[in-house]
Amino acid sequence: MEIFKQIKAELELASLLEKLHLEAQSDDAKEFGELLEKARAIAAPKVVYKTAYIDERQGDSVTIEGIRFNSHILRKNLEKVERVFAYVATCGTELDGIDIPKDDMLKQYWLDNIKSVALFSARQYLVEYLKNKYALGKTAAMAPGSGNIDVWPIEQQKELFSVFGNVEEIIGVKLTESFLMIPNKSVSGIIFPTEINYESCKLCTREQCPNRRAPFDKKLSESYNK
Ligand code: SF4
Repeated sequence: MEIFKQIKAELELASLLEKLHLEAQSDDAKEFGELLEKARAIAAPKVVYKTAYIDERQGDSVTIEGIRFNSHILRKNLEKVERVFAYVATCGTELDGIDIPKDDMLKQYWLDNIKSVALFSARQYLVEYLKNKYALGKTAAMAPGSGNIDVWPIEQQKELFSVFGNVEEIIGVKLTESFLMIPNKSVSGIIFPTEINYESCKLCTREQCPNRRAPFDKKLSESYNK
């Protein structure tokens, strides 16, 4: 298991202003800039990952390091894979320490966007690190609860977290009783080598998702049911 606690957050003012549709010379942009400065001073995105090996494949489940994961899609994706990388990445708890009045929805929204960028930095750092360290080619990732409900049930967050022990102590990410993560800008999952361009969004029928990374792919979806 390796832990990274001080990953640099790529918090660029210009790109965030553009994303938030803020005019560079506006009062809002000035206030946003002040918030961003506070965030830059304390942001510490974090990652924990563990190299793990497949023990067994059975029906619609796969056992990794003694922990059973139930997902027909995961089982198929790991058909020819022996080694995977389980991980949890987060924007870090520090950014939640910035004092913003609860009713200031605009600033809460801005902070959420800053946290998203910090999380992206953490995840990118991990993917690059793994590619370099293990000379990986193409990779893909799956996460419990991502995509249609039958892809990989969110309840399996519990099993995934158990791979690491106490994730809250390690990098500050807490799993709630409804299997959501705190800080909210955290992700967990399994990264694996693959020859296909797998992406959970391709199997997801949810309409109008602002975070969609790829269109629904009916052919790919059907191929998993063969
Ligand atoms: S389309 Fe949206 S909800 Fe569906 S998997 Fe992609 S990001 Fe998640």
